[in-house]
Amino acid sequence: MLIIGSHVSYKNDTQLIGSVKEALSYGANAFMFYTGAPQNTMRGVIDDLKTYEALNILKDNNIALEHVICHAPYIVNLANDQDNEKFLFAQDFLRKEIDRCITLGVKYIVLHPGSATKLDRDYAIKNIIRSLNNILLAEDNIVILLETMAGKGTELGINIKELKEIISNIAYQDKIGVCIDTCHLNDSGIEIGEFDAYLDEFDKEIGINKIGCIHVNDSKNPINSHKDRHENIGFGTIGFDKLMSVIYNPRLESVPKILETPYVNKDYAPYKQEIEMIKNKSFNSHLYEDILAYYHK
Ligand code: FE
Ligand code: FE
Ligand code: ZN
Repeated sequence: MLIIGSHVSYKNDTQLIGSVKEALSYGANAFMFYTGAPQNTMRGVIDDLKTYEALNILKDNNIALEHVICHAPYIVNLANDQDNEKFLFAQDFLRKEIDRCITLGVKYIVLHPGSATKLDRDYAIKNIIRSLNNILLAEDNIVILLETMAGKGTELGINIKELKEIISNIAYQDKIGVCIDTCHLNDSGIEIGEFDAYLDEFDKEIGINKIGCIHVNDSKNPINSHKDRHENIGFGTIGFDKLMSVIYNPRLESVPKILETPYVNKDYAPYKQEIEMIKNKSFNSHLYEDILAYYHK
């Protein structure tokens, strides 16, 4: 069965209830949320009554809790220890994010590994390893999914080698995995048309069982551009057919596929129509018109 959804909003007043309802409105059976604004670390208190209601809605709609994924804010940088206070704050924030996910019953947290900034890349990677080993506890029922990055600026985790270096040094192997992002792979230099060859190498070096989530995005930029700008499915440089070969790859059938494609005209979520197009397995060249018509009906 196809497990597909998108990133959805999470607001303090409705919490996970609002996120689940938004996902259902797109016809999704999975989703990803941030526990607050992705670009900052302000977080509210989780209301257990709301969580309880959200879990009931999930159950009523046959959405498995394992298909609900959290994304840590992008400003958490576990790689930079130049300012010790900031370094410790990043670790403390991620620890609190793990605790919030445990409270919500959510098991998977997508994390951007970090950026080297002015540091040597190998040293910065050691900081990530050090941070994660500090944060993770034996009893955590949590998996941190390191996202494959595009290589913008000084991002780390931009190829299998760097991800393997981090993962192989994590003490609790059951608590670490990978989130593949198709836009980031393309922008980092991987030809999505040869995705099976990438998976073969990934399996050999890291293990395919470590893949816990796939971000399905087209890219606005050519392969190896190191840009990271997402495009709607079938409207970018990767194209519909290559993305479909990832979404329907038999080796990744049990892995949730999450869309992070851009809103149309900044206001209109494209996910209902993109999910329909993916389920139909046929490219809709009128996607934008259909989205605008849907929101203006
Ligand atoms: Fe991400
Ligand atoms: Fe992503
Ligand atoms: Zn991205």
